[in-house]
Amino acid sequence: MPLDVVMLGRPGAGKGTQARRIEGHFGIPQIGTGDMLRAAIAEGSDLGGRVKAIVDGGDLVPDDLMVELIRARLADGTGAGFVLDGFPRTLDQAEALDRMLGEIGRAISVALDFQLAQGVAEERLLGRAALEGRSDDTPDVIRRRFDTFRRQTAQVSEHYRARGILVGIHADRSVDEVWAEVCEALEQAGGRSDS
Ligand code: AMP
Repeated sequence: MPLDVVMLGRPGAGKGTQARRIEGHFGIPQIGTGDMLRAAIAEGSDLGGRVKAIVDGGDLVPDDLMVELIRARLADGTGAGFVLDGFPRTLDQAEALDRMLGEIGRAISVALDFQLAQGVAEERLLGRAALEGRSDDTPDVIRRRFDTFRRQTAQVSEHYRARGILVGIHADRSVDEVWAEVCEALEQAGGRSDS
């Protein structure tokens, strides 16, 4: 059975860090939609040009664009599973993902819900801003991204809770402590170490 994982939780919760660990340990590709969009912007592609102002402002890229991006990516090398970081961010995206997977007889195995207070997440993002220089890690845009999360993304957790596959993660702990929780959840969901 493929291990199909989604990572949920507000910006700054540490989803990307853990998704990269999952990729290394469980041998499934990490698919970060924010990374894909930033790469498109850096390349100056058509897609990049269309989304730059939206990403820089901390709003969501339209669902149809995101769903097509994910559809193309999932068709490529995800036979053993995948870990999605940053998608789905709306209920419509979650439903589109279910339909896409359903067409090939698959379904999300587990949804990890990274929980931490907004103040802690904000401090982390401000710290990261100094290291990575992301254009959307300024104080104003960070606030906007939290608003966007609260208005459009937070309810996505309920979609997976209703299916009984939502697992809460104490995301305010150290990277290694969070990793231990993540591993336990994925092993319970049938994931096996690649190494
Ligand atoms: P992230 O790196 O996940 O924080 O994403 C950075 C930005 O990319 C977000 O603030 C959105 O503007 C955009 N983005 C990433 N994933 C999605 C998505 N699934 N739906 C809409 N916009 C997205």
